[in-house]
Amino acid sequence: MEDCIFCKIVKGDIPSTKVYEDDKVLAFKDINPAAPVHVLVVTKKHYPTFMDVPESELEIVSHVHKVIQQIAKDTGISEGGFRVVNNCGEQGGQEVKHIHYHVLGGRNLTWPPG
Ligand code: IMP
Repeated sequence: MEDCIFCKIVKGDIPSTKVYEDDKVLAFKDINPAAPVHVLVVTKKHYPTFMDVPESELEIVSHVHKVIQQIAKDTGISEGGFRVVNNCGEQGGQEVKHIHYHVLGGRNLTWPPG
C-alpha cells in the first residue's frame, strides 16, 4: 500500500526503532509510548484491520502470538505482566489502517480503557 505509514516502515522508507524482525512480522517502538514498554507488532503483509485477515491466512495470528511472547521476554515485561491490544475500526480507536498489535507493559495498567 503506497500511502500506508506502516508499509513504509516495513520497507525501511520511514525509520523505526526495531525490536524484532522476521520474514512475516516487524516489531518497533511506538513513537508516542503509552507505557515504559510500548511496542507495535505489524504484519509485513498489509491487512487494513483485524477483520481483514482471511481464514486461510490466520496462521499469521499464531505467529504474531509467538513473536509477542519473545518480545515480552526480551523487554523484561513477561514476569510482571503486560497487555496486548488491537484497535479495530473507528469505534475501536484505530488510527493507522494496517493491522498492528500494541504490546504495553512496565507499569500497572488500568482497566477499562477509555
Ligand atoms: P492505533 O490507534 O491502534 O491505530 O495506533 C497507532 C499507533 O501508531 C499509535 O500508538 C501511534 O503512536 C503509532 N505511530 C504512528 N506513527 C508511528 C511511527 O512512525 N512510528 C512508530 N509509531 C507510530
